[in-house]
Amino acid sequence: MKKPYLSKFTRYIAIPQHLLGVLAIFLFFYMQLSWWWLAVSYVSWVMLGVFGVSTMYHKYYSHRAFEFKPQYQWVGKLFTLLGALCGQGSPIGYAAVHRLYHHPYADKDERDPHSPHVHGFWHSYYGWHFTPAVFHLRKIKDVLDDPWAAWIHKHYYRIWWCALLLLAAIDWRLALYGMIIPGLIHVHEMNILNSLSHMPWFGYRNFDTDEHSVNNWLFGVLSWGTGYHNNHHAVPNTWHNQVRWFEFDPFRWIMPPLIASGREPPQMQG
Ligand SMILES: [Zn+2]
Ligand SMILES: [Zn+2]
Repeated sequence: MKKPYLSKFTRYIAIPQHLLGVLAIFLFFYMQLSWWWLAVSYVSWVMLGVFGVSTMYHKYYSHRAFEFKPQYQWVGKLFTLLGALCGQGSPIGYAAVHRLYHHPYADKDERDPHSPHVHGFWHSYYGWHFTPAVFHLRKIKDVLDDPWAAWIHKHYYRIWWCALLLLAAIDWRLALYGMIIPGLIHVHEMNILNSLSHMPWFGYRNFDTDEHSVNNWLFGVLSWGTGYHNNHHAVPNTWHNQVRWFEFDPFRWIMPPLIASGREPPQMQG
């Protein structure tokens, strides 16, 4: 394997994003900003992270879990664009890593880029971002052929920086607490979940899958459904992750008015 290096993504997105994040935390306390800015961060985390990345990048582009009704195609496009502001790369890069490497090789060998069993916790948490990856983009032809995903992929860096500067021009606090902080929270929350959700002590299993994925009820609720990782690995292309009555996934109620078709997960008693 080649020596790790700082990729273009690390230099242009990840490092500035983290430096600005530290600045945002410092300024929040130093300038004694209103706690309302945390409410802005939470709402933005829902829009950019939960809808943008978890729903569009993950469920829609990586797993093709549902299709929007024709009149709501614009909703999917808007949320995909918002997902780009999260600082996790383009939908094409995300879908390539997730669909082609994490799911088929989960916990089996080093082709799974973030398995805590193969690579250790820290690598699976964040170190894998620094490892050069060879993506077989042609294998996700359906995503490459999606004009909106292709446009975001082509202009990814411009989109991220233009959005940041535009928000900063309106109000610098909007850029920091409406884009940088929610993006960072989602990046690290997803990385933690990706790692811990493959550790047996972290939760329970509904399905005897061929990797170590588990569900964690608390993280499931906090992440709006993503934390039911064992349910997700068992049947990845479902439009929500709720299998038992106590596994709260708000998308079970949010998505039906918007989608024309999608696969339901199997339901379990108790
Ligand atoms: Zn997984
Ligand atoms: Zn997945």
